[in-house]
Amino acid sequence: MHDFDTVITNGTVVDPEKKCVTVASLGIRDGKIAAVTRERLSARHVLDAAGKIVSPGFIDIHTHVEGKADCAGYMAAMGVTTVYNGNCGISPPGAMEDFFGRYEREGFLINQLEQAGHTSLREAVGLTDRYAPASQVQTAGMIALLEKAFDIGAWGLSFGLEYVPGSSAEEVLALARTAARYGKLVSIHTRTDGYRGLAALKEAIDITRLTGAAVNISHFVYQYGFGMAVQALAMLDDAQREGLDISVDSGVYTSFATSIGSAVFDDGCLQKWGCGYDSIVAATGKYRGKRLTDEEFHELRADAPDDTAIALIGKEHEIWEILERPGVMLSSDAGTMYEGAIPGHPQDAGTFPRFFRTMVREQNRLSLPEAVARCTSLPAGRLGLKNKGKIKEGADADIVVFDPDRIRDNAQLPCDGDTSARPDGIDYVLVGGELAADHGELKPVKPGKLLRGRGTLWNR
Ligand SMILES: [Zn+2]
Repeated sequence: MHDFDTVITNGTVVDPEKKCVTVASLGIRDGKIAAVTRERLSARHVLDAAGKIVSPGFIDIHTHVEGKADCAGYMAAMGVTTVYNGNCGISPPGAMEDFFGRYEREGFLINQLEQAGHTSLREAVGLTDRYAPASQVQTAGMIALLEKAFDIGAWGLSFGLEYVPGSSAEEVLALARTAARYGKLVSIHTRTDGYRGLAALKEAIDITRLTGAAVNISHFVYQYGFGMAVQALAMLDDAQREGLDISVDSGVYTSFATSIGSAVFDDGCLQKWGCGYDSIVAATGKYRGKRLTDEEFHELRADAPDDTAIALIGKEHEIWEILERPGVMLSSDAGTMYEGAIPGHPQDAGTFPRFFRTMVREQNRLSLPEAVARCTSLPAGRLGLKNKGKIKEGADADIVVFDPDRIRDNAQLPCDGDTSARPDGIDYVLVGGELAADHGELKPVKPGKLLRGRGTLWNR
């Protein structure tokens, strides 16, 4: 008879809150961390972590995994144990209650949280024209649906304003006010990027100022990494100094991925970004992996609008300047790689290892505990996840064990190589105490929970 289900021995345990490390062993029982100690522990399963970092499982605050099993596999293989889905205005597919019920019954490889998305709410009240504002009746309908989603357990509200350019200030503020009333986080993919991005950031800051909602600005580098990251960060500083409840997540690539038929690629986008058609790479569909010509770009826009395209724009140094700022959380924007859609974007398979390789090992911009905080305790705090993002007795046993000297991404852009290559240096990933990935090899388990948001962000 053993005291524990699993023991992780002699690892270097990171405390992201105190920003320190200690060599210790962990005892795991019933999905929880039951002991953190220097004593010898016995268990049925023993994982040796000598010389390795033992970190809380990574929490990715900006994803589009939404129950896609392949996509979850890439996430688990890079250490992600919890994803915050439903971003950029897009709710989980189908009726939310059905989606929640399904993953509660069936389980999933990793933990999922879901948001209600503004664009999906528009569609649910019959508004499919992305260039049209909602009427008063439609806005009232969206508010009723949003309240219902919160009652069911949607964790927050997301906007993808760039995808619905016609959305009015009235409808956006009315929905944000509803989220504020329920004490829910509002994630905002701002209305435009490129040189007009700063005005869009002002709009997002005004949303929290006018409604009192807690706001998180999504994938900052994809919106402002065009030479304006410094100004955007200064605006953020001012907003926080003013006392506004605003935060930011950002990724480790300059090139974003989205549907080629979306408003992001409307006329004028290349002028806005200062690039040509050959800076747009097809990530799925008949031209996947290819830099597009003028003709191919317009052909896909017309005939295959749901194909994913990657825009190779932005300035690499701004990736790291954004992530260096205190409080910025790491995010992948993953959701492009699933069955039939591969290659997709390397962010799905490479974000977290690339962050540690670059920010900690190669550029020495963040200490290891600080880097761990950006993908564990900070997002856990922002999402009100009290039992995640820490290694303490009683916390959920979502854990990643990695080698700080070897952790690296191998995924590449589709025009350069294999987008889905698994990272190196990640030994073990546990979700709720169960081994989900062992040296990159996925286990056929479903320990992940669908977490319903109850109460307010601050009082769960
Ligand atoms: Zn987005």
